[in-house]
Amino acid sequence: MSRRGAGGRGAGSRDAGGRGPGSPGVGTATVRAGVGACEVHGDVIPPLHLSTNYTFEGLGAPRRFDYTRSGNPTRAVLEEALAEAEGGVGCVVTSSGMSAVAVALHLCPPGGRILAPEDCYGGTHRLLAGWEARGLFRVEWTDYLDLEAVETCLREGVDLMWVETPSNPLLRVTDVAAVAERAKASGATVVVDNTFLSPALQNPIRLGADVVVHSTTKYVNGHSDVVGGAVISARSETAERVQWWANAIGVTGSPFDAYQTLRGLRTLHVRIARHEENALRVVEALRAHPAVRRVYHPSLSAHPGHATASRQQSGWGSCVSFELDSADVVEPCVAALKCFSLAESLGGVESLVCHPATMTHASMPEQARLRAGISDTLLRLSVGIECGEDLVSDLERALNRTLEPVGV
Ligand SMILES: *Cc1c(COP(=O)(O)O)cnc(C)c1O
Repeated sequence: MSRRGAGGRGAGSRDAGGRGPGSPGVGTATVRAGVGACEVHGDVIPPLHLSTNYTFEGLGAPRRFDYTRSGNPTRAVLEEALAEAEGGVGCVVTSSGMSAVAVALHLCPPGGRILAPEDCYGGTHRLLAGWEARGLFRVEWTDYLDLEAVETCLREGVDLMWVETPSNPLLRVTDVAAVAERAKASGATVVVDNTFLSPALQNPIRLGADVVVHSTTKYVNGHSDVVGGAVISARSETAERVQWWANAIGVTGSPFDAYQTLRGLRTLHVRIARHEENALRVVEALRAHPAVRRVYHPSLSAHPGHATASRQQSGWGSCVSFELDSADVVEPCVAALKCFSLAESLGGVESLVCHPATMTHASMPEQARLRAGISDTLLRLSVGIECGEDLVSDLERALNRTLEPVGV
């Protein structure tokens, strides 16, 4: 964050890693990925290779690529850029975030034991439970904030630890280094779903993780027009196994999706800086508003994950959740918003609002949902890159409406 403008962060913020969205690491690698590498025509931007197959130079003499499911020149540029951005040695780009999750779960041996957070992404929860029911492995649901419980599980034997931080929608922060250190001592593989922050704000491999998973659908592509995923490995042996399974199952991403996602990735660091700036303004406005009971964001010193986030993240992230005073005002508030569209997903340039209880987390049993702190009055914002002033005044106008007496 050293090169971030002075207006970029609000009170209470601090430099966490020195590798923020404005630092040369991520920004330069993603902007320069594959630029000018085409030797035939000297294309500045690597061309889109749609061909499903490639000629052999002769019998027994394949070129670098033979068949697009196994490898494709356009996808390879994105894979190399993502591996570099995350500090990994290899990457496989997949057809969705869920297929990236599915491929990464193959790193658990048959009949093995997986430790996973209760509040992980709903699709991941569903896949873990579904495959456990088929006997592929056993799942132990845990709370990574309770490191003693994690240690107890590790003593009983764990093959793979699934981590997702910050969590959705309450943005609970897991200490990746603390978890990875304990996993290493007991031989478990650590996989971190880094979707919520993107490689611009958090690099789990540098914190000790073995594998990073992304839904590139979110911040990496960032324009809400491609569903995709990626699995990045810290070691080449893991990278080879991941590539083997992605090819064997047939879930590698399409070349066109890779082309689009690479275009999105090139502006990741610039978008993230603006996302961050806007999110901090929104947090400030929400905190000051009488209609808001509580705000959840790691930038707040009262947030339980604040200290860990300031150590392991190089920014706070731009999803913000908040509670309104009563369930009755949720609908009028959402309806009054003009700059926040009512939709699931996150990480696009446009701002979104979501009501977790009836949308992303609707399939959770009510008691479990309330136990997890996802109340009926909770709203989650994915703060976009519009003009910050417009976002704040839109929110304030919608929140003011909830304070008006009914019928006025
Ligand atoms: C969206 C998401 C996924 C799944 O990704 P898709 O691209 O929708 O398949 C996995 N993990 C997290 C944290 C997500 O937000």
